[in-house]
Amino acid sequence: MTDTVPVERRSEIMRQVRSRDTVPEMIVRRLVFGMGYRYRLHSKDLPGKPDLVFPKRKKVIFVHGCFWHGHEGCKRARLPGTNREYWSAKIERNLKRDQQTLLQLSSLGWKSLVIWECALQNASNVTSMIEEFLDG
Ligand SMILES: [Zn+2]
Repeated sequence: MTDTVPVERRSEIMRQVRSRDTVPEMIVRRLVFGMGYRYRLHSKDLPGKPDLVFPKRKKVIFVHGCFWHGHEGCKRARLPGTNREYWSAKIERNLKRDQQTLLQLSSLGWKSLVIWECALQNASNVTSMIEEFLDG
């Protein structure tokens, strides 16, 4: 038994995971836009390049894929059967970076909301979460 995965296979897995990440972001963008809020995308001058930025409110929204960002206790965040060590180290790094990002943003006076991919299954919940966050 070996736990190495050929390079091509590994990048194939990573591509799948990445593209799964981008769909939730599109859903949130469309939702927020439909609610009448206007935002900027991926502001590079802010820590963590938040997905949606609301400059006047000093608020940002991150849309996190459950797997990639290690959503605790979520079944979508379960590691693949093979190469677990590789993945858990990678996800662990992402988790640490995400925590750092939120701390940096808050020390700069920005409020952050993290929307998990799995929460998008209930659109009305997400809508009120966003409303509360942006108008609260
Ligand atoms: Zn989740």
